Amino acid sequence: MRRQIGVYTVIEHLRRVNKLDEIELTIDDKKVKAKAGQTILQVAKEFGFDIPTLCYYEKVKPQGACRVCVVEVENRPTLVASCCTPAEKDMVIHTSNERVLRSRRMTVELLLANHKNDCLTCESNGKCELQDLAYKLGIERDKMRFEATSPNKPLDDSNPFIIRDPNKCILCGRCVQVCEEVQFKGVIGFAKRGYEAYVTAGADVPLSESMCAYCGECIQACPVGALTEKLSKFKGRNWELNKTTTTCPYCGCGCEIEVYSKDNNVVKVMGSEKGAVNKGSLCVKGRFGFDFINSKDRLKRPLIRQKKDVRSQKTKVRRDQTQEHQNTRAPDRNNSTAAPLFREASWDEALDLIASKLKEIKSKFGPDSIAGLSSAKCTNEENYLMQKFMRAAIGTNNIDHCARLCHASTVAGLASAFGSGAMTNSISEIAQADVILLTGSNTTENHPIIALEIKKAVKDGAKLIIIDPRSIELCEVAHLHLRQRPGTDVAWMNGMMNIILSEELWDKEFVKERCENFEEFRKVIEKYTPDYVEKITGISQKDLKEAARVYAKAQRATIIYSMGITQHTTGTDNVLSTANLAMLTGNVGKESTGVNPLRGQNNVQGACDLGALPNVFPGYKKVTDESIRKTFEEAWKASLPSKDGLTVVEMINAAGEGKLKALYIMGENPMVSDPDLKHVEEGLKNLELLVVQDIFLTETAQLADVVLPAVSFAERDGTFTNTERRVQRVRKAIEPISSEALPDWKIISLLSSKVGYKMDYPSPSEIMDEMAALTPIYGGINYKRLNGPGLSWPCPDTSHPGTKFLHKDNFTRGKGKFHAVKFIEPAELPDEEFPLILTTGRMLYHWHTGSMSRRSKGLDEICPEGYVEISASDANRLGISADEMVKVTSRRGEIKIKANLNNRVPKGVVFIPFHFAESAANVLTNPALDPVAKIPEFKVCAVKISKVYNRIRGGGKRWPR
Ligand code: SF4
Repeated sequence: MRRQIGVYTVIEHLRRVNKLDEIELTIDDKKVKAKAGQTILQVAKEFGFDIPTLCYYEKVKPQGACRVCVVEVENRPTLVASCCTPAEKDMVIHTSNERVLRSRRMTVELLLANHKNDCLTCESNGKCELQDLAYKLGIERDKMRFEATSPNKPLDDSNPFIIRDPNKCILCGRCVQVCEEVQFKGVIGFAKRGYEAYVTAGADVPLSESMCAYCGECIQACPVGALTEKLSKFKGRNWELNKTTTTCPYCGCGCEIEVYSKDNNVVKVMGSEKGAVNKGSLCVKGRFGFDFINSKDRLKRPLIRQKKDVRSQKTKVRRDQTQEHQNTRAPDRNNSTAAPLFREASWDEALDLIASKLKEIKSKFGPDSIAGLSSAKCTNEENYLMQKFMRAAIGTNNIDHCARLCHASTVAGLASAFGSGAMTNSISEIAQADVILLTGSNTTENHPIIALEIKKAVKDGAKLIIIDPRSIELCEVAHLHLRQRPGTDVAWMNGMMNIILSEELWDKEFVKERCENFEEFRKVIEKYTPDYVEKITGISQKDLKEAARVYAKAQRATIIYSMGITQHTTGTDNVLSTANLAMLTGNVGKESTGVNPLRGQNNVQGACDLGALPNVFPGYKKVTDESIRKTFEEAWKASLPSKDGLTVVEMINAAGEGKLKALYIMGENPMVSDPDLKHVEEGLKNLELLVVQDIFLTETAQLADVVLPAVSFAERDGTFTNTERRVQRVRKAIEPISSEALPDWKIISLLSSKVGYKMDYPSPSEIMDEMAALTPIYGGINYKRLNGPGLSWPCPDTSHPGTKFLHKDNFTRGKGKFHAVKFIEPAELPDEEFPLILTTGRMLYHWHTGSMSRRSKGLDEICPEGYVEISASDANRLGISADEMVKVTSRRGEIKIKANLNNRVPKGVVFIPFHFAESAANVLTNPALDPVAKIPEFKVCAVKISKVYNRIRGGGKRWPR
């Protein structure tokens, strides 16, 4: 087998270097032409010959292990495995003569003899490749030549997602290979040899005790019933399920998924092999985190608060309950306890109430006393309508969404430097980079499919430089890991550029031809010598020099960053510095280079593109520009406001001060996601009208006056735009689980008409057409064109193929602009009273405010509660043991939470994921804002930790250790 792989590798190499010519050969008496380097199987498939396979899987190297694909090659003494035998000139091949069929029958009979043949109840019945093959070869059980062994090895169902049945395993090795070659995990492998061989996990332990991240790639690759989904067991036969191709609702990677449903229930999710980004792969959330869709907690009818004055009392009840649950498990998120505070209402009653209140508030206090929060979870069409509603129907630019909390500084910074505030390059280009500078992104947990591209690049020889205070998983494959003091990013980037300039490693031609403002920038950089930077950041001069040299000398260096860069009071400065670094080395406008911010939620890019921001219309057109405003006024037939509106945190502040009277929230949950939650709660309670439109009674909805039931991604049509600017279809897989719940676009349309501004769209497709007409970067996009892999903007007209990478010959703004950026300390630094730095973020098994992922049974079982990561040395000093309950206090509040002792955080730094309402990190965070982007400083605030003297119990199964 090893020899065959060797041959294959040589052929692949020769093909790549174009050393092999086209050849002619004969298959089953037909002359065919093969491309150099193809295997017999590849050629046969191309010309429509049916050669069965079991171990062969297109995504991994051929193994030739199962021998089912054997063919006869004339003048060869033995049959050959077609999957790993190179096609050669003048070969004469027989794919299905009697000798070949005899051999295949023998192979399949041997497999069946040692296979648990329980097809009657096997989950893979109807899609089992062994079953199909036995049928095709006419193998009858009672005529088999080998005695069946009835294997009876124990199942592994130790985890909530995957059932491993070794009795059905045919040892094809596909699962082992995809784990190693596609997911780069290598968690599963073969144990023992020959007849005794079996597939096992880790050091021969159940999956739950191994390092398995439950991506489910192995299930997708398994040709039989040895690996199946636990969640879909006995929920429907394969032929009974409806398949709908749509887009994952979690992160910004934008994986294409196949949703399988039966009787209006989503039964399972598979990765779409045609997915432009994921090519069939998914992470644990995308594959297994779907049971929130049919959750019993879903909002079913509009709700109206019974009495206004119950709002404060309600919150108290919820908090008290939460405290009780804190020591036992995640809080009971069943909304039934909250329901009595609301009464059910008809749509007419609820919408009439909202419309009349909005009109009353508008006439009393003016349109700017009303604000709206749009949603990165909703579709492009819904975000477009939401901002149109606020601007045209209400008459205010007070519209924003959670991009303000994650990448507002990216939009501001990259727009200033390049003219476009988005990823410059595409995800598929990452694998071809030769240097990747990754900073402020825990990619394997937050953008798992993009992490695969990074690992692929490293495997092919790229150097990975990680600059991050935490020791993330990718550090295991990094060339360099530099741990800066949190909040000192401008300093280390200026330091790298100082070295690049002083060692003459910069791209003079690119700077001269394509950029401006270089001299002003250079003057500032002079001060940031390696010695000075070491004092600020804690990064050694040696390491900084090495990082600068490796990055600057690369042919194709790409910068990838996420919220570790953006969520600072200097977020815009940090982003400008990444742009400076890329321009200085000529790493923009070329394949596999650029500055690539990884956007957080599924549609945060789209929500920004379509104008759910207080200063721009769709397409980033300034609301203050009169001629642009006129265009929108003519299109929307409404007079539009001319001054910038309020941002997320400013809305909360204005509510607290009594200046904002009404807030309309679509699909956001500021009571968990925003900084300084006590302040948020006070602001929301101070409103005269709070409307929340969502799929669950979230922590925010519990404070609302009116709650409107929306539908999930699986129950609606539309589009999402992923982090690489790719606009992809969202397709309805099931009918709304409550006949009274409505898609967000429909709710906004109904309300807008009641307010007096008519919206009457037959479907999201027509909304897309209107959006495209007003948004030049979406100009050529329509639903007909989105039936394939999607289109990446800019896509100005219907003949345009979309844009893979930006700024090829010119920057969007003309010349790339250098900015002279000076280092400024974070707004709040540790001191004697609060000696630790708190940094917050996300983790693999949960998503955003947890409203969806925490209602997924499996994800909740794997990680039921929050934790604070503390370094061993800080824990020792404080006398804290693993899994002990501790109190974390900042100047804004305190939470009780479990201690997770690990080496991921350095001394003096602690980390808390923000998904958990009952131990909400944002009770502690600092609402200080970046002055340009108005993004809060989630990544740095000062805290102290003390013991709680409470009982100790086991921590979350999947806490990073
Ligand atoms: Fe969904 Fe992101 Fe996971 Fe892909 S990587 S499956 S988009 S959560």
